[in-house]
Amino acid sequence: MKAALRTTLRTILRIVLRIVLSWTAWPGLLLLCLLATAAGFAHGIPVIAFNLTYFSLAIVLLLLERWMPHEVAWTRADGQLGADILHTLLSKGAVQTLIVFSSAVGLAALITPLAAPGNGIWPRHWPLWAQVVLALTAAEFGLYWGHHIAHKWKPLWRFHAVHHSVKKLWVVNTGRFHFVDSIKSIVPALAILVLLGAPLEVVTWLSAITAYIGMLTHCNIEMRFGYLSWVFNTPELHRWHHSKDLREGDKNFGENLMVWDWIFGTYFNESRRPPVDIGIKDQMPARFRDQLVWPFRRPVVLVDDGVGIAGARE
Ligand SMILES: [Zn+2]
Ligand SMILES: [Zn+2]
Repeated sequence: MKAALRTTLRTILRIVLRIVLSWTAWPGLLLLCLLATAAGFAHGIPVIAFNLTYFSLAIVLLLLERWMPHEVAWTRADGQLGADILHTLLSKGAVQTLIVFSSAVGLAALITPLAAPGNGIWPRHWPLWAQVVLALTAAEFGLYWGHHIAHKWKPLWRFHAVHHSVKKLWVVNTGRFHFVDSIKSIVPALAILVLLGAPLEVVTWLSAITAYIGMLTHCNIEMRFGYLSWVFNTPELHRWHHSKDLREGDKNFGENLMVWDWIFGTYFNESRRPPVDIGIKDQMPARFRDQLVWPFRRPVVLVDDGVGIAGARE
């Protein structure tokens, strides 16, 4: 009798904990990441703090994906683990870090005279948090259009299709981007910040937040978002973006914030469940190195099925 009562209590506790976590995990984890990053800045070790926070977030999300998955079907192996990790390492690790940090450092000399008090238009007198919000919004304009155009213009789409070819969403394929696709995303966003004269500290904050939100957006965890989805790119919005149906998939181009989706009419969210069957119609090769060359050599395939499938535009 006692054992049965204990089992019932444990079950109730587990259900309550899952409900609480489903509402608090997304904003709570983002907040913890921001606090850890701020502590890193305060102690003069922003890069170490960022890396520690990033990997800690990945581990926590992986555990939550096992414990409270959004789609059970997406917890099964898809044979892309190696390719996902290699794309992440090449694309994010090498190219993105190189471009973001070296460009920011290299361009600091160019930025400084523009952004010096009285010269530049960047409001350096604002509190740091306000500058970061401004940078997020301004850079998002470049990220939004880089992403939007990649969905509409076939030569760029073929690079972006490497990301959309996944059959499931989970934390590990967050960084699965063809490296050309990553460069295409970074350049316009960075150009806007350089032109505005954003200081390096603000650019570093933006890079860290983009990395955290990216991982939080791709994870396969059963969560609730409420009004958060009005402002941020949450998993529920990004799951629509991965839909094969272009009426849902050609929406929600925002990387961190949804502000430009609202302005340009591409915001999409409905109360029904987003599709489980995601991906593209074209056949993406399974191996990493074949995926790298696929966008360069793939002949154009014209398919018109009335609804339209990502990867089969024209
Ligand atoms: Zn996309
Ligand atoms: Zn995605």
